[in-house]
Amino acid sequence: MMFESVQTFNHPKSAMTHNYRITLLPGDGIGPEIMTVAVEVLKVVGKKFDIQFEWKEALIGGAAIDATGEPLPCSTLDICRNSDSILLAAIGGYKWDSLPSNLRPEAGLLGLRAGLGLFANLRPAKILPQLIDASTLKKEVVEGVDILVVRELTGGIYFGQPRGIFATETGEKRGVNTMAYTESEIERIGRVAFEAARKRGKKLCSVDKSNVLEVSQLWRDRMTKLAKEYPDVELSHLYVDNAAMQLLRYPKQFDTIVTGNLFGDILSDAAAMLTGSIGMLPSASLGASGPGVFEPVHGSAPDIAGQDKANPLAQVLSAAMMLRYGLNEATAADHIESSVLQVLQNGLRTGDIMSPGMNLLGCRAMGEALIKTLEGA
Ligand code: NAD
Repeated sequence: MMFESVQTFNHPKSAMTHNYRITLLPGDGIGPEIMTVAVEVLKVVGKKFDIQFEWKEALIGGAAIDATGEPLPCSTLDICRNSDSILLAAIGGYKWDSLPSNLRPEAGLLGLRAGLGLFANLRPAKILPQLIDASTLKKEVVEGVDILVVRELTGGIYFGQPRGIFATETGEKRGVNTMAYTESEIERIGRVAFEAARKRGKKLCSVDKSNVLEVSQLWRDRMTKLAKEYPDVELSHLYVDNAAMQLLRYPKQFDTIVTGNLFGDILSDAAAMLTGSIGMLPSASLGASGPGVFEPVHGSAPDIAGQDKANPLAQVLSAAMMLRYGLNEATAADHIESSVLQVLQNGLRTGDIMSPGMNLLGCRAMGEALIKTLEGA
């Protein structure tokens, strides 16, 4: 089990009662289809491990815009705040693309993260032996890769002030963004990463650009000081350009990576693509206290929405992450993860991970196969 201290810190009550209030945010596109599968899976493991869930569904993204005019209605944020964990599917779609940015579905997601103070984004990128051929990299390069990227989510250049496009004295326009981190912001994401690394391979690589940026010098300095409190975790540092190169050259060298918002945005996508299958990747966003948000890495896939073609497994694995990191129910999480592997082992595939000789299933049928495996195992 990973990350126990952060979980316990977040949910002392839940760890004892096995009774949880879960907010479901199905959102748009394939969201409702994959959410249905994940909820069925949670019901089955709930029965098996004596866990009670109380569900509340709420609106976010395009669905919320259509119903209320806003991407994140206050009622949704209230429901989320009063729950133990939040399972989100995906938001967005062509229909809302022309709205101003503060009214687009994506604003709902940013508002949710800000409203809940979710400063840590955890994205595992693990090569599943059954899907090794889905990677664009050579088998010997990706075999055995199991990386967790811990990205700072609420600071850095995406939020720093000043920002904007200003006129210079000559009348030319100048675009400005500011990359800034305080020591306490660095320390809190550092602690999350050290705790996670401690429960994994005990290796943490901090990524920065301290040869050029002062903000990175402070980052490196704080991480190095923090390492003294985690003598069992081996800390290393890489410049971001080298980290990107190493991820492609020899990804197996990494266990846990911690980095800021911008570098993390880029590196977590690169790490994710090592696996070659976006329909398989879950993520977690956590704060210092209160509920976390668990969601697939992929978007709402409007091109296949409503056609029963979506891969529900990233959503299901997000539910497993919710059990593990949000609710301290590692045994149930393990059961889901091993059942997903079993289904793949049985040669069952949705279109996005299909390969010759395998059996092609739709979203619903994949869900049914998984339920059978969960009940049987
Ligand atoms: P996307 O992840 O939705 O789709 C990219 C490609 O991957 C598409 O071909 C899609 O069919 C496929 N795909 C994605 N998930 C799949 C799944 N579970 N099963 C099978 N195939 C899958 O990214 P996009 O096309 O860039 O964005 C579509 C919409 O999603 C946009 O409105 C975007 O803003 C939004 N989006 C939302 C989130 C989120 O909710 N966190 C993340 C990324 C994009």
